[in-house]
Amino acid sequence: MSEARIIDGKSIADALRARVATEVARLRNDHGLTPGLAVVLVGSDPASEIYVRNKGMQTKEAGMNSWEFKLPDTTTQDALLAKVRELNADPAVHGILVQFPVPAQISQQAVIETIDPDKDVDGLHPVSAGRLASGLPGLVPATPTGCLVLAREAFKARGETLAGKHAVVVGRSNLVGKPVAQLLLGENCTVTIAHSRTADLPSVCRLGDILVAATGRAEMIRGSWVKPGAVVIDVGTTRLPAPERGAGKMRLVGDVAFAEAKEVAGDITPVPGGVGPMTIACLLRNTLFAASRIHGIAPPQDL
Ligand code: NAP
Repeated sequence: MSEARIIDGKSIADALRARVATEVARLRNDHGLTPGLAVVLVGSDPASEIYVRNKGMQTKEAGMNSWEFKLPDTTTQDALLAKVRELNADPAVHGILVQFPVPAQISQQAVIETIDPDKDVDGLHPVSAGRLASGLPGLVPATPTGCLVLAREAFKARGETLAGKHAVVVGRSNLVGKPVAQLLLGENCTVTIAHSRTADLPSVCRLGDILVAATGRAEMIRGSWVKPGAVVIDVGTTRLPAPERGAGKMRLVGDVAFAEAKEVAGDITPVPGGVGPMTIACLLRNTLFAASRIHGIAPPQDL
């Protein structure tokens, strides 16, 4: 069998961001509406700072308003929730994202539940999860949406759709595993959700025409666990030491043993360059959708 096609998350994300920018321009021209995303960062975690800066840059590049609020790491939960409520009430803000993790004195769940579900561009509010499970319009977490877009693209290139395929999702977090499974179910896949207590995980994985890995366990999924010809979407990101690249250097690896799996899969996402680039693109898409729905405008159908 020939090697898998590599799913190019970067170019698919670039194309999605360009389409979001076109729709943002249309919203401004036709309705005088500019979508706006507010990001709140508590503390000074260097990785979070880089991520927030990238979000801000890409939000502006898409033609949207972007606000960044940096709060000290001593911020109390009450003060953060007051900031969230202020943004809930601000009509120029259509999307609110609090960068996680937050410092220990703040409950992440309290933050999630304070964000107005209509502005919940991270899609983590129980109302957002409920809307997704009920098949109602709502905001879906960005990374799972990115996984769905990549899987759809892979099957589209084969002249196929996701309907009727068996999808195996390894991982059941609220952030990734559960919403990915709901999205695939919404596409008429038959969905199996596996987790750390799943018996005989290799055999379960081998059932998947689509295999989504979201465990955070570096290269756990071996080539022999992959069904020949499957579409493999690797969400995992783990940093491992890479002394071969020089002292102190690191490399990013996924949950799938890529070199083995690409000999068996039909299509596979690389790490980095697969799911990762899709996350901010899907966040911008969510902000566009939130602004449209808040103003009673139907969001674009085919985005
Ligand atoms: P998480 O909350 O830690 O959840 C991990 C899930 O994997 C859990 O459901 C866990 O099962 C399952 N799991 C752990 N070990 C397992 C094993 N040995 N066999 C089978 N299942 C196992 O992680 P997450 O937030 O979903 O993130 C998953 C990965 O995706 C992480 O590497 C994260 O960095 C990455 N990620 C990447 C992006 C991106 O933009 N690329 C975005 C978000 C997350 P139990 O429920 O039974 O414990």
